[in-house]
This record gives sequence, structure tokens and C-alpha cells, in this order.
Amino acid sequence: MKIATFKVGDERRVGLVDERERTVAAFDLSMESAERGALALVELSTLPRQLAPVPLKDVMLEAPIPRPRRNVFCVGKNYHEHAKEFASSGFDSSATAGVVPKHPIIFSKVPECVTAHGQPVRIDRAITQAVDYEAELAVIIGKSGRGIRLEDALDHVWGYTIVNDVTARDLQGRYSQWLIGKSQDTFCPMGPWAVTRDEVDLANTPIKCWINGELRQDANTRDLIFDIPTIIAAISAGVTLQQGDVIATGTPAGVGIGFEPPKYLLPGDVARVEIGGIGVLENPFVEVHQ
Ligand code: MG
Repeated sequence: MKIATFKVGDERRVGLVDERERTVAAFDLSMESAERGALALVELSTLPRQLAPVPLKDVMLEAPIPRPRRNVFCVGKNYHEHAKEFASSGFDSSATAGVVPKHPIIFSKVPECVTAHGQPVRIDRAITQAVDYEAELAVIIGKSGRGIRLEDALDHVWGYTIVNDVTARDLQGRYSQWLIGKSQDTFCPMGPWAVTRDEVDLANTPIKCWINGELRQDANTRDLIFDIPTIIAAISAGVTLQQGDVIATGTPAGVGIGFEPPKYLLPGDVARVEIGGIGVLENPFVEVHQ
């Protein structure tokens, strides 16, 4: 199932997107539940009844979980080729961990930087001159847990979505912790919707990113250094994962900093991320001045 969070007028709704991605049928949820976006469904064991479908083009999509309850967990350097391109970029404040890390590098983005498919990502050139894109498969946790074993990890997954882990490389390099460079306002496009876990084949799912129509990232989830059970086990070893937590699993090679000279994003650029079984997340980049 594809589960979208969207606005009709000022009201937030959560609905089922049809197979052909043409309509969305809202679930009969209280306004209070719908405010939590797709998280309202993650918390339910049976689906509520659906209202009449409406054309997708007539609604405004929001991020599937518009405001996660806490920071979005992220994995750094989790594809071999990307680990190499990043290590040679000069911006790698995690370089002491080695080109290919022995353990997952886990950082986070503040929940307030989440934005929706189609919404502008804001570039403030007084603050950063090096905005980059990172196409990523993101996991949505459905069952809380601590000390989750590898063999049980996928039972804790409710579904998946797409995240563009937008990054200010200069800020990422300046501070040894990545939070500021990763958490600039609007730097976490998420969507276009969430899908239940049966929709994604972790052993063979293509992940691609185009900038202004130019294919920059073209990989497969089978190339992950640390697979999703390993990531879940690593985080939950002492940190209780909670229902609704989002984990962005890392980006493949082809980010802007991997080019010589780097191809950073400029106002007017459009990033399009496509992941098999999920859909397309596309966002324009615009200039703002504080
Ligand atoms: Mg990333």
C-alpha cells in the first residue's frame, strides 16, 4: 500500500494512493489522528474505512510524517563507491573512521527540517555555498524495540519512504558533528508518500537521482555496506527505537561533492529522486535571504 499525507484546504488527511497513482482515498480518521500523518496508521492494527477517492492532482501532498516525533536517524557513508568519493572530498570530518567504516556512522537531522514532495528547498547563500543532494531509502519503524536482533529487525519495520538528505557540505566539514550541516531548514524532503514494507525488495531496489534531468546517482539497495537489519540492530543496542522513527539509510555515489569540480546545487535547480516500489520525490531549490 502507498499511504499519502495530504491537505484538503486547511485539513490534514491520510489516504490510500491507488495502484496507478492517480487517486487518493482518505481514511476515516479523527482530525487529531490525521494530524500525525501516516504515523496515525502505523499506530493502528486494522485500517480504518476509506472515503471516496479524489484525484491526486487536486490535493497538496505533505511529507508522509510531516513532523517526526524526534530527530530523523541517518546513516553516513553506507555505499562503497560513495564512501570513496566522500573520503577524497576534503570535507570528511569522519575520515578517522576509515574510508569504509567498520561500524555504521549514525547522525541525525532535526524533525523541523522535513518538507514535502514538490516544496522548495531553501538555499541561503550567506550561510552555505555548498548545498548537496543525497538520495536515500528511509525506513519507518512500526514496532518499538531495544536490543533488536538481526533476525527480528525487519519485523520492526512498518514501511519505507524516500528522503533527500540535503547537506551543506561546508557546514558539515566545519563542525565535526554533522547536525548543523544536515539540519538546515527544509533540508529533509520526504515522500512523495510512505509504502508498507511489502512494497520494497531490499535485495534489489533501484535508487536514482537526477539534477535538472541529468542522472547523477544510479545504484541499488543491494550495494549497501550495512544492510537495514544491521542498522536497526546497531541503533537499538541501547537506544530504544520507537514506533514512527525514521531512519535514512545512506546515499550512493554520485553526489555533487564527488565531481571535480563539485556540482553543488544552485537556486533554480530541481532534484528528482526515484526509488523502485516507492515513487518519485522531486523538489526545486530556491534562494532565500534571512
Ligand atoms: Mg545521507
